[in-house]
Amino acid sequence: MLKGDDVFKKIIAHAKEYGFIFQSSEIYDGLSAVYDYGQNGSALKNNIKDYWWKTMVQFHENIVGIDSAIFMHPTVWKASGHVDAFNDPLIDNKDSKKRYRADVLIEDHVAKLEEKINKEVQKAANRFGETFDEKMFRETNPRVMANREKIVAIMKRFVAALEAEDLKDVKALIEELEIACPVSGSKNWTDVRQFNLMFSTQMGSLSEDTNQIYLRPETAQGIFVNYLNVQKTGRMKIPFGIAQIGKAFRNEIVARQFIFRMREFEQMEMQFFVKPGEEKQWYEYWKQERMNWHISLGMGEDVFRFHDHDKLAHYANAAADIEFEFPFGFKELEGIHSRTDFDLGAHQKFSGKKLQYFDPETNESYVPYVVETSIGLDRMFLAIFSHAYNEETLEDGSQRVVLNLPPMLAPYKVAVLPLMKKDGLAEKAREVMDNLKFDFMCAYEEKDAIGRRYRRQDAIGTPYCITIDHQTLEDNTVTIRERDTMLQERIHKDEVKRVVMERISYKK
Ligand code: ATP
Repeated sequence: MLKGDDVFKKIIAHAKEYGFIFQSSEIYDGLSAVYDYGQNGSALKNNIKDYWWKTMVQFHENIVGIDSAIFMHPTVWKASGHVDAFNDPLIDNKDSKKRYRADVLIEDHVAKLEEKINKEVQKAANRFGETFDEKMFRETNPRVMANREKIVAIMKRFVAALEAEDLKDVKALIEELEIACPVSGSKNWTDVRQFNLMFSTQMGSLSEDTNQIYLRPETAQGIFVNYLNVQKTGRMKIPFGIAQIGKAFRNEIVARQFIFRMREFEQMEMQFFVKPGEEKQWYEYWKQERMNWHISLGMGEDVFRFHDHDKLAHYANAAADIEFEFPFGFKELEGIHSRTDFDLGAHQKFSGKKLQYFDPETNESYVPYVVETSIGLDRMFLAIFSHAYNEETLEDGSQRVVLNLPPMLAPYKVAVLPLMKKDGLAEKAREVMDNLKFDFMCAYEEKDAIGRRYRRQDAIGTPYCITIDHQTLEDNTVTIRERDTMLQERIHKDEVKRVVMERISYKK
């Protein structure tokens, strides 16, 4: 995979040039951290959703899907803790007037120390060659140990300050670490303040306080408030899950890095309801299941890693992220959280309605515990898209940009290309296309030289190009060209479906 800021810029440019992602309201100079998916982007996004839905809902008998509304009763957000605690600590640099998340400034500082450690390890690995014992080196090298101690001390102090809501100490830590504004280079900071990330609006015609409602900042609460509806009507037995894909909104303080952090985005979440006491075992299970899901996409194992949370959210008794190596480094892609009975318990208290499960085996009633898996659809899109982006120099010295997308996720599975329009080739190509379009998204192109058409399909990640030439008129054979290898083969036109299906089937 290509890495670095320059590559990231190229990826963003490619996403626009080929109809994947546009800045929202671009003709009005855009809206910050809001994006639109174009013709190819929406297709790729839908395919990611479909893959998640099939593997989570269709493949699990005990998981069902719902689609709850974005607007919810305002008390939902009081009960969930979002009104009081869905805050980020923000800090401004007085010279550059730039705003930052205090936690991100500190985490970036820690990441630099991590980088120093990794460089030290790499240097030693090069020096010692095959005899190098990395574990031993990490545990005994004085410079590595000193930096490791620094990291532990910073995180301990930071977590303690946040837990005690001691924002003065968060600022003191930033000053002691001599963290400078990346833009102005100055260390002239304002105090740290809490900022609630929920967007609010009014429902109905009066703008009184009581009419204030929120745009949901996560899809999970729509699942919790429907727990009993689904359990009863679906006659679900614990353990069971409820899945949902939908929009979420957060007024992010700093929205950078393209679709990595947006103010309007989509989540794919699954809440798994379990017997109290069994949550740790299900937490481990879903951590592994979700990691396997990512690995199943064929991007390699080394681009993913777990990161256990240092500071647990108010609702969790265990939490980990699955991080992905984006062009700008390892960052959170998905969260797996053991949420205890916090949410159902809180909704039970605030609504006055029992949200319990009657266990027919033990004749007991209890509020179930919840293990959730929560992934950002747009972040997953960015992970797949940036990993797929490749620049290649071919044997003849020419360059091509190719999206090596997992074939089952590609916007188009097949492009049908008549070598030329005349001599009845276009008509024949239409016949092939009409046959295939019931099974796959097919692109049809007859303009430009065939080589240029191949390049365009490479650039949007189409796994197969089918070319219709004069021989097709004689014996109904076509050439099928594979995107990654660029190898071409002649097969009967009726064979195309089987070949493509084999490659894109979920069964693989
Ligand atoms: P972060 O620490 O990056 O702000 P988070 O820990 O607040 O994320 P969660 O509340 O656990 O995120 O949300 C679950 C998932 O939703 C995240 O792993 C991420 O993929 C996605 N997500 C969260 N916020 C955004 C956002 N602003 N834009 C795009 N995706 C997001």
